[in-house]
Parts: sequence; structure tokens; C-alpha cells
Amino acid sequence: MSKGSGVGIVGGTFDPIHAGHLAMAREAQRQLDLEQVLLIPAGTPWQRNPEAPAKDRLAMARLAVGCGDTIKVDDREVRRNRPTYTLDTLQELRAEWGADRPLWLILGADAFLNLPTWYRWEELFQYAHIAVACRPGYDFQSKEMAPALRERLSGGNLGTDPIMGSVPKFPPNGTIALLDIPLLDISSTGVRNALQHHQPVGDLLPASVLDYIESHQLYR
Ligand code: ATP
Ligand code: MG
Repeated sequence: MSKGSGVGIVGGTFDPIHAGHLAMAREAQRQLDLEQVLLIPAGTPWQRNPEAPAKDRLAMARLAVGCGDTIKVDDREVRRNRPTYTLDTLQELRAEWGADRPLWLILGADAFLNLPTWYRWEELFQYAHIAVACRPGYDFQSKEMAPALRERLSGGNLGTDPIMGSVPKFPPNGTIALLDIPLLDISSTGVRNALQHHQPVGDLLPASVLDYIESHQLYR
């Protein structure tokens, strides 16, 4: 498989999308040399209840990425009229992109540590690699890590050194890589709280997203 042929997938509630999500997508693209990164807002996530409607979370994600062709928003999970499972999405993407192309599910450290609670999580590796971005307050080497996940991390790991510089030839799926991204203490929860308390959020998300939030009176 040629260099730069991988596809990254960033799932999330994006309630709302913020600079942490965008930094993770951009850094994954650079460090894993991805041809494309898909941001996939969850429609009806089975583990939580978003505050903003799916159509607004989708619209904000689209505004945040603009019209570039390497980072795109994919609305399949919003269109799906049933609870969202990442496994279904990866199966669909694998069928669409073919068997050989490296697919990367990109997760923040909190989501990664939570992975063993996901629906049939171990099967995710049959369809994709997982790339993990650090996040303030979450420790990859944590003793809290579920043993099955720790085993995965030591077994199918591409190394705890950040992937920089020359990109190895990746198989299509099955390993874990750690990304080197700056720690960004930004969360959608923090953004929602700040908005409710009329605190400034201009540094936390793109201006287009803030305009949308204001004009649609979200998170009041
Ligand atoms: P909330 O506070 O509502 O849970 P969030 O900021 O965690 O929102 P999500 O939509 O839940 O955003 O997360 C989507 C993905 O982005 C997850 O894999 C999460 O770990 C990752 N992520 C979110 N913010 C950051 C950040 N600041 N740094 C690294 N990863 C992040
Ligand atoms: Mg979250």
C-alpha cells in the first residue's frame, strides 16, 4: 500500500466540536500520513445523551472543517436510525475502502481507556488500527487500564514512541499507535459550561461554530 493511503476516523458526540477535536484530526493526518480523515458525529450514541440535536452537531462539524478535501465530515451515523455502534461504522468503511487500505480509528486517551465498555470492542481491530491521542488527566500507562486492553496495547502495539518522521508501511488493521499531540485542556463539557455562564470560549472553537451556537441559541 502506498504512503499516504490510510484513512482516519474521528468519532464523537461533537457537542459542540472544538479545537481539541480538530488538533487531533490534523495531527493524526500528519503523523500517520493519512489521505483522508473523516469526522463522524454520533447520531444516537448508546452511551450518552447529547445536548444539541444531531442536525446541529453535524452542521457545526461541517462549519469547523470547511471545504478542504482531506478532513471531511461523514454523516452516516446521524442518518442511521438506531443506536450508533462504532463497530457497524468500521465494518461499513472497510467494505467501502477495500481490504488493503489502513484504517485508523483515532481516539482521545479517555475514550481509549473506556474502550472495553464498547460494543464488541475487540472486533474493532479486525477492521482498523487504533491511534490514541493524549488528553489532560488520562494516563495511558494507568494501572486502571482494563487488563484486556493492556494486553492489546503490549501485543499489537507499534511502539510507545510517537510516530514521527518516516512512516512505516502499515498493515490495514490490528495495531495500536500513540500519537504525539500537544495536551489541550479543552472539552465539549467545558465549552457548554462556559457558554452557560457567559464566559468567553473564542479560543476553544472556530469562530464559525461559535456564530452557529449563538444564532441557534444552543447551550443556554
Ligand atoms: P464531552 O465533554 O461532551 O464528553 P469531548 O470534548 O470529550 O466532549 P467527544 O465528542 O466526547 O468530545 O470526544 C470525541 C473524541 O475526541 C474522543 O475520542 C475524545 O477522547 C477526543 N477528544 C476530545 N477532546 C480532546 C482533547 N482535548 N484532546 C484529545 N482528544 C480529545
Ligand atoms: Mg467525551
